[in-house]
Amino acid sequence: MKIGFIGVGNMGGPMCRNIIRNTNHEVVVFDLNPAAMAACTGAIAGASAAAVAAACDVVLISLPLPAVVEAAVLGADGVAAHMRPGTVLIDLSTNAPSTAQRLHAALATRGVAMLEAPVSGGVARAVDGSITIMVGGEADVFAAQRPVLASFSGAVIHVGAVGMGSTAKLINNMLAFANMATAAEGLMMGVAAGIDLGKLAEVVMGSSGASASFRSMTTRALSGDFKASFALDLAHKDLRLAQQLADETGVPSPMGAAALNLLRMARGHGLGAADVTAMIAVYEKALGLEARLKS
Ligand code: NAD
Repeated sequence: MKIGFIGVGNMGGPMCRNIIRNTNHEVVVFDLNPAAMAACTGAIAGASAAAVAAACDVVLISLPLPAVVEAAVLGADGVAAHMRPGTVLIDLSTNAPSTAQRLHAALATRGVAMLEAPVSGGVARAVDGSITIMVGGEADVFAAQRPVLASFSGAVIHVGAVGMGSTAKLINNMLAFANMATAAEGLMMGVAAGIDLGKLAEVVMGSSGASASFRSMTTRALSGDFKASFALDLAHKDLRLAQQLADETGVPSPMGAAALNLLRMARGHGLGAADVTAMIAVYEKALGLEARLKS
């Protein structure tokens, strides 16, 4: 089988390399960034997204924003126009449920099946092949593609119909980023109170406030390393989509809204391309304090 992979950035790159490492399939990649493509050793470099689509039986995509995904799939000369009937598109990006449903319907008219398969776990778990994949789509399509998904994941969960994978993903990320916003707030209280931040981190990580979000916020803030692993702009997208979901379902979401507003302030400070943990800089700038470990 020939597998295409379009968008081999922070997440797509390691996921693609795990498919190359863990399966015997031929893999063809395409990315607008030539360096990202070159990093996929063992794959064939595609000439364009259209060329990858035309050549492959299964095409995976991992692209930044819903608008980018829609343009890449349904736009003029998009992937949909080049995929053969009987082939499958798997979208690993984080999108609105309605985007996934639109793509699924448009591809179905061409005889192309689709799974939405957003992922969670961040770059480290994409690299070690343990990320969680939450899949929306028909059961038979899921069953046929499960081995490919399992080749780069620790947990592949079929959530339900197309739209349910994105729903699970948006809820998860709202929890993660609302928790991270609270972690930033707590750390800054610690700084202002003069506590030893290393001790604070040790206490929280062994106590009921522990979380993956607190750990990554603390690690990044204390070292001052905010190079993007999960770009703040992408987290902002996720929280906007989660708020849309709250609107559509009529569920009050004050916690998600607070986290989204913190990210809006961070973007106002020019931090969109930094790591999402750079949200703490909003507090640091407001207070004239920094949450760094004293050496
Ligand atoms: P990224 O920006 O690192 O990677 C995206 C890649 O797509 C880049 O290499 C870019 O050059 C390429 N690209 C953009 N437009 C393209 C196009 N039209 N054709 C071909 N290539 C194109 O982003 P990422 O962090 O890898 O995120 C990808 C998706 O995964 C997003 O939807 C994000 O929300 C989601 N996600 C990210 C993380 C994370 O920790 N970074 C975790 C879970 C989910």
